[in-house]
Amino acid sequence: DVGEKVSKEELLEKDRKYVWHHMSPHNENPMIIESGEGSWVQDIDGNRYLDGMSGLWCVNVGHGRKEIAEAAAAQMMKIAYSTLVQSHIPAIELAAKLNEWLDGEYRIFYSNSGSDANEVAFKIARQYHHQNGKPTKHKFISRHRAYHGNSMGALGATGQAQRKLKYEPLGVGFQHVPPPYCYRCPFGQTKGACKFQCAQAIEDAIVWEGPDSVAGIILEPTITGGGMIVPPDEYLPMVRRICDKYDVLLIVDEVICGFGRSGEKFGHQNYGVKPDIVTMAKGLTSAYSPLSATAVSAELYESFKEKQAESHFRHVNTFGGNPVSCAVALKNIDILEKENLIERSSHIGKEMMRRLESLLDHPHVGDIRAFGSAIGIELVEDQKTKVPATAERVMTIIASCKQRGLLIGKNGDTVPGFANILTLSPPFSTSDDEVAFITDTLVEVFALNNGKG
Ligand code: PMP
Repeated sequence: DVGEKVSKEELLEKDRKYVWHHMSPHNENPMIIESGEGSWVQDIDGNRYLDGMSGLWCVNVGHGRKEIAEAAAAQMMKIAYSTLVQSHIPAIELAAKLNEWLDGEYRIFYSNSGSDANEVAFKIARQYHHQNGKPTKHKFISRHRAYHGNSMGALGATGQAQRKLKYEPLGVGFQHVPPPYCYRCPFGQTKGACKFQCAQAIEDAIVWEGPDSVAGIILEPTITGGGMIVPPDEYLPMVRRICDKYDVLLIVDEVICGFGRSGEKFGHQNYGVKPDIVTMAKGLTSAYSPLSATAVSAELYESFKEKQAESHFRHVNTFGGNPVSCAVALKNIDILEKENLIERSSHIGKEMMRRLESLLDHPHVGDIRAFGSAIGIELVEDQKTKVPATAERVMTIIASCKQRGLLIGKNGDTVPGFANILTLSPPFSTSDDEVAFITDTLVEVFALNNGKG
C-alpha cells in the first residue's frame, strides 16, 4: 500500500523531489489525498473535505464506488486488454449504450482523454470533407475562452492566451470568435435585447475565412473551464443552422457537460440540436478509468463506408476503448440510470442557485451562472464597473472555504486579467444536507470577506 508506513514528511519530501504538479509546478505543500467516500475526500492527516468540484468536474457518481472497482476487477480477470482491430464485449455494449443516450445514430471511436477525442474529431472532419470532394475545407472555428485540451490541435482550438504562449506554433487552422458572454457582452448588448451578434460572428467568420476553407465548429454547450459562460437559449440552434448553410460540421465537446452535469444526458440536449460529432471523456467513467469517445453521426460515417478504398481512417490508439475502461463506463452509466443521478444533478444545481441567491447582494459578486449542477460565481472589484476581482480576492475565498472543509474551484486565470471565477460542480450523489453545507459555507465566507478589505 503506497504511503502506508511512510510519514507525511517523508512523502512530502519525495513529492517535492519527484512530482511535477499540474498547473502549479512549485507546489511545495500539496494536500496528500488518501481516500474518498461519496462527496468527501480525506487527506493523510485525516482531514475531510467536501469535494465541491468532483475532482476536476469528473467524479460525477461520487468517490469510493465499490461496484465500479468490482466491475474493473472482474473485467481484468476475464481479459484486461484486447485491441479494437478486433472487437470485444465491453466496447460493443458501451457503443450501443451511448447510442441509447444520444439522440440519433452514432459510430463510436474510442480513445483515452478529452484532448484525444477532440483530435479524432478534427481528423475525421477534415477527412470527411476531403473524400467528399472538398479537400480545401480544413479550418475550425472555436470561441475565445474555450478550452478543448492540451495536445497541439486541441490547444490550437483553445481560446485562452495563457495556455498557449510559449508553446506555439500549435495546430494551425483554428479561428476564434467572441463567446456568448451575456454578463460582459463582447458586442456591448444587453441580454434579452440583442440580435445574437455572438452567433452572427460565427457566420461572419465562415464567410470571411471563405466557406470552402471551413471544416467545422467546435464548442462546448456551455464554456465551463473558461469562465462558466452559459449561452442564451437561441445560440446553439442558430449555430446549427449556420453549419447547415455552409456545409460546416458541428462538433460538440461534451467532456465536462456530458453525462448529466448539465441536467440532461448531454449538454446539447438542452437545446434540441443534433451535432455531427460529439466528444466525451471525464464523466464517461466518472474518472474511475481513463476513457474518451468521439461519436460520429451515422450520416457522416456512411461516407467513410461508401468509399472503402480511400476512407481508411488512419488513427490508432493503443489503450483507447480497452475492455477495463469500457466495463467501468458501463457500470458508471448503470449507476447514473439506476440512481436517477441526472435528475439529481439538475436538482442540486437548482438548489445551489436558490441558496446562493443572497450572494448577489455582496459587493464583490457580479454574476452567478448555472448549467445544471455546474456553477460559476463571477467576482468583481465593483458591481457597477464590473472590473474583475483580483486573483488575491479569489484565492482568499478559496482558502477560507478549504479551512472550513470545502474544496471549490477557480477558473479564468488562463485569460489575462480574468482570474475571477469560482466554480462548483459537486458529485450528483451529494445529499441535500451536503448541498446546504456547500452553500452555507460560501455564504459565511463571503460575509467575512465583505468588501471592506
Ligand atoms: N474539453 C474540455 C471542455 C475540457 O474541459 C477538457 C479537460 N478539462 C478537455 C477537453 C481535455 O480533456 P483531457 O484533460 O482529458 O485531455
